[in-house]
Amino acid sequence: MITRHEAYDLSRRNTFGMKVSCRLYVEVTEPEDLLSLDFDTLPQPVFVMGGGSNLLFTGDFPGTVLHMGNTENRFLDSALVISTKAEGRVEKSLVRIPAGVVFDDFCAWAAEEGLWGPENLSLIPGEVGASAVQNIGAYGVEAKDIIDTVHAFDRTTRTFVDIPVADCGYGYRTSNFKSVWKGRYIIIAVTFCLSLVPTPVLDYGGVRKALIDRGKGIPSPISGHPRPDKREGPAGFAGGRGRSEAEAISEGIPFPLTPQIIRETIIGIREKKLPDPAKIGSAGSFFCNPVIEKDHFARIVTLAKAENGPDYEVPHYEVGDKVKVPAAWMIDQCGFKGMRLGGAQVYPNQPLVIVNATGDATPQDIIALEQRVIDTIQEKYGITLHPEVEHV
Ligand SMILES: Cc1cc2nc3c(=O)[nH]c(=O)nc-3n(C[C@H](O)[C@H](O)[C@H](O)COP(=O)(O)OP(=O)(O)OC[C@H]3O[C@@H](n4cnc5c(N)ncnc54)[C@H](O)[C@@H]3O)c2cc1C
Repeated sequence: MITRHEAYDLSRRNTFGMKVSCRLYVEVTEPEDLLSLDFDTLPQPVFVMGGGSNLLFTGDFPGTVLHMGNTENRFLDSALVISTKAEGRVEKSLVRIPAGVVFDDFCAWAAEEGLWGPENLSLIPGEVGASAVQNIGAYGVEAKDIIDTVHAFDRTTRTFVDIPVADCGYGYRTSNFKSVWKGRYIIIAVTFCLSLVPTPVLDYGGVRKALIDRGKGIPSPISGHPRPDKREGPAGFAGGRGRSEAEAISEGIPFPLTPQIIRETIIGIREKKLPDPAKIGSAGSFFCNPVIEKDHFARIVTLAKAENGPDYEVPHYEVGDKVKVPAAWMIDQCGFKGMRLGGAQVYPNQPLVIVNATGDATPQDIIALEQRVIDTIQEKYGITLHPEVEHV
């Protein structure tokens, strides 16, 4: 089904809460209906959106906003399409999820089913279609790690195509859908490859510590989830790759570890750090973390030690022969935490996030604060921050 709304109010359709509208809003619930849509006659440009959680509308949109909706009864196009077997046992399951499904509903379903893969991506706002555009990531897992195939409508050939993960050009929060293919494909569904055997990823962003805090050495009290069969599970399922059950228990990690336990732990961590879009407008991390040359990083270390003392350590991650420096750290060092400009604010709990603090911030407020941050970081560290949030 296709529904059309003229002069459509997008205020509730973008998590920043920008009070903007579009000339035409088109909601498509059945992918086949895309074939009957004459794109050339729609107000231009045509922009495909999901949940609007990574967008900053910079004003009223002059063209058409198209959304792949989802009907309640179509959560799974077809569950457990194929299962691959290794040494006689089923290890992986392919599940095809329509683009309009809320990504976290998919995470919740997978965790309930005891399927491993998306649990670390729990509570990321937005929809399944966009997860494949953005290559969303959190706590050591990226969408590309669990995507098998992206199913899309090709606007240039007016055909449906299946794009294997290897062809999608995935990188840090990017893909061909965001770059060379921009505007070409409308994603209609994504097939994910989930694991029936445990594959916990615990070594990022305090997940292990949070699990230990949760477990306190007591075997998991959570019931209702099948205990993984030790004969079937590969080495390392108890608390991370390469760890034995005994090691995990002595560390205090709940045992048996389930995707549901990790999901709940991740949700707990995220709720402390990130603004709830239902309460305060934002689009999540506003800037990408820059990757710089080692000698550039050395100059930043010298500056940071001069300011904070000789023992001060600058947070960073080695990326090949380069260094990734958290943008949040630089923003914090420049004194932006909590800073307001009009209705926009650098979120006090996580300076990488810009929020609509008053609820009536304008796009210009957000852009002014964004520019202030970019200019200050450029002046102090010689680094140009690039927004992760897409300006529309
Ligand atoms: C509080 C908060 C926390 C966040 N935390 C994280 C995080 O931890 N990790 C992370 O990676 N992101 C995070 N984000 C960003 C955001 O949730 C993701 O980028 C998400 O994937 C966006 O999904 P969406 O459905 O809202 O897409 P939108 O914002 O609507 O669109 C994003 C892009 O996808 C394209 N698109 C959407 N649907 C389709 C489709 N069907 N076909 C073709 N193109 C499409 C749009 O054109 C646009 O380019 C966070 C955001 C918020 C508000």
